[in-house]
Amino acid sequence: MYLILAKNTSQMLMINENLNNSGVNTDMVPAPPESGTVCAIALRVSEEDLELVKKIISEISINEYEIFKEKKFKLQDLIDKKMGTFVSNEFVQIFKKVELGENLEKKDIVYLLKTTNKKEVQLLFDAADKMRSRMVGDYVEIRGAIEFSNYCRKSCKYCGINKNNKDIFRYRMTEDEILDVVFSLHKMGIKTVILQSGEDVMWGTDRLIELVKRIKKEYGLRITLSVGEKSFDEYKRLKEAGANNFLLKIETTNRDIFKNIHPDDDFDYRLKCSKWLKELGYINGSGNIIGLPGQTEEDIAEDILFFKNMGINMIGIGPFIPACGSEFESLPVGSIEMTLRTVAITRLVCKKVYIPSTTALASLDKDAQVMALKAGANTIMLINTPIKYRQKYKIYDNKNMVDMQSAIYAVENAGRKMPKYIKLNEEGTV
Ligand code: SAM
Repeated sequence: MYLILAKNTSQMLMINENLNNSGVNTDMVPAPPESGTVCAIALRVSEEDLELVKKIISEISINEYEIFKEKKFKLQDLIDKKMGTFVSNEFVQIFKKVELGENLEKKDIVYLLKTTNKKEVQLLFDAADKMRSRMVGDYVEIRGAIEFSNYCRKSCKYCGINKNNKDIFRYRMTEDEILDVVFSLHKMGIKTVILQSGEDVMWGTDRLIELVKRIKKEYGLRITLSVGEKSFDEYKRLKEAGANNFLLKIETTNRDIFKNIHPDDDFDYRLKCSKWLKELGYINGSGNIIGLPGQTEEDIAEDILFFKNMGINMIGIGPFIPACGSEFESLPVGSIEMTLRTVAITRLVCKKVYIPSTTALASLDKDAQVMALKAGANTIMLINTPIKYRQKYKIYDNKNMVDMQSAIYAVENAGRKMPKYIKLNEEGTV
């Protein structure tokens, strides 16, 4: 992140207003003591916006200002603030590594996943929150999801829309139905639409390509696809049609567990898909499920290292939730706390990435999305599937239909900010 310092507070406010009016997210933070400026506040902006920021400031004819990179990340103060807190030497060493920008090893991650010291767990969340603020700022990215078909050719054992489930009503939205929802997302100011479905053969690649092109042409939104495994050529054609992001979760990096939960899939092929997506220039999404049968903390640590080593940009981490009509319908639900720890460590390890506060978390506890936002997450995905279909996209039971109101609730209760691009009215709704 970068800091902007102006000559005085009124100039700073003017810069802030102009940047926000142009859709640039800014955070007002205390000016670093060494800056020596009379203005006590600085504006924090992200690196991607830097060129635009300079252009906007030059257009309002402010010449006396400075922009510089934010200084080193410090965590020791978190421990010092909680004087008297007992933390182990091992924990302090792990924090030091994070401060110095050194890579965490598997044993460090396993320690953080296993520690029974509640103070250490809270410090882990606080450190991840600090890293999140430093790397991606305080605005929560809001995206809109359309679950456009629940037909699926696969029989994943955890999933409620697996092909063997005869007890759910299957639906498939048409192009026009999807475009109607995209129109409403565009009206709300949302910038990214997530198109998700089962692996539906009737929504093949050619049809998806036409849909992507139409959305791009009519609304210009960024498009995330989450439609499962395809060939290199298909991913390529979808990218060329205008898709920006692709979400294909590895679910687990433990090959034995992967094989057990995915009777139709091959781990190496899934891995190949993820590499292709990266190679093709997608913003590459992955993630895992916490609480799969047989999964250990060591497995989760490997998942986190996989996200890092693969250069994954969006990481969806959700607890396992049993789904009626799936092979795993009677298995216990995954732990919220283990999910939050995974979110927090992923933030410390992968740093500048999108981490959603997932719908699965919101489905287990109304406040779990708030907790994830305070433990490293920075994105919320709204469920914008039309009401008549929503309950039928039952990948697990009691799925929470996260809407704008619940997103605002989570953002406010986490002490964070709604992005400037969302068009809220005076009542704070859309
Ligand atoms: N077919 C696409 C795919 O496989 O990537 C997208 C749809 S799939 C239903 C989306 C995600 O739902 C999966 O990546 C998985 O992590 C999640 N999911 C499905 N069933 C779940 C369950 N019972 N508990 C938690 N997450 C689940």
